[in-house]
Amino acid sequence: MTSAPTDPTASGEVRGYSLAMPVRFRGLTQRQGLLWRGPAGWAEWSPFLDYAGAELVPWLRAADEAAEQGWPHAVRSEVPVNCTVPAVGPEQAYAIVAASGCATAKVKVAERGQTLTDDLARCEAVRDALGADGHLRVDANGAWDLEAAERAVRALDRFDLEYVEQPCLAVEDLAALRVRLARAGRPVLVAADESIRRAEDPYRVVALDAADVAVLKVAPLGGVRAALEVAERIGLPVVVSSAVETSVGLAAGVALAAALPDLPYACGLGTIGLLADDVVTEPLRPVGGMLPVRPVVVDEERLAASAMTPEDAHAWRDRLAQTRALTSEAARA
Ligand SMILES: [Mg+2]
Repeated sequence: MTSAPTDPTASGEVRGYSLAMPVRFRGLTQRQGLLWRGPAGWAEWSPFLDYAGAELVPWLRAADEAAEQGWPHAVRSEVPVNCTVPAVGPEQAYAIVAASGCATAKVKVAERGQTLTDDLARCEAVRDALGADGHLRVDANGAWDLEAAERAVRALDRFDLEYVEQPCLAVEDLAALRVRLARAGRPVLVAADESIRRAEDPYRVVALDAADVAVLKVAPLGGVRAALEVAERIGLPVVVSSAVETSVGLAAGVALAAALPDLPYACGLGTIGLLADDVVTEPLRPVGGMLPVRPVVVDEERLAASAMTPEDAHAWRDRLAQTRALTSEAARA
């Protein structure tokens, strides 16, 4: 039995962090969230600011799991990760991959204000840096329509794509794209991300045969156990990705990746470098493309150095209190 989560908003133990993101990613230049410690360990609650209302509830369930319960048994002691290449120019892209030590790179494509030419140049540089044996995947975050996706994927596949992540937003378009690519003799694998984590029904991708790979993130799915259940039901190979958290949040992703029976692809958990700093004593920074499976401990000095402004802290505590109220309502229903 799990005990009812203690309410950290009442006890004042909740700590806010605010960290710069040196390179804009997902439209963000700043990452903020709350941290607290429960009997099982540290928890992070850092839903993106474009999430609201009931969407925030699973993020809170995930944080409560980390603080109150801890995570299921790990079947591996380290987890392979990809490096992440934001929508930067080719020289910077090359440098990011070369410095990462990772054999897999995930490249942001279809960035607003850029063209396919930019994506091709970036992917060419990444393929150069990886060498022929490395794995190159791209993520469009649903930005292409079906026509643009087919054109882009066929062009980008000259750099031998491991898969294309969320080329289009609609599940129907993902399904149609798979058919088109197969007909064109370019059966590039399609991974579903937004179609799972922000969908009313994450299993539609399976029902419509719309994806080959499922990208799962712990926080929007409501915790490691909830994500394991989704993985089991969805029946596709899983790539665990972060929501660009501090090492506290990343540790939950590592716990999921460590608990999955099969882990055929590198995970998107090597994202600590996207933040200017971290809040733990030993950050979960990949070495040789691997992350260790271990708990993290918040470093008081680093946390103090990343404190939010009082205004932001107030807004975040309100957000947490409102979400806590929604969670209690949901539990009673
Ligand atoms: Mg993605």
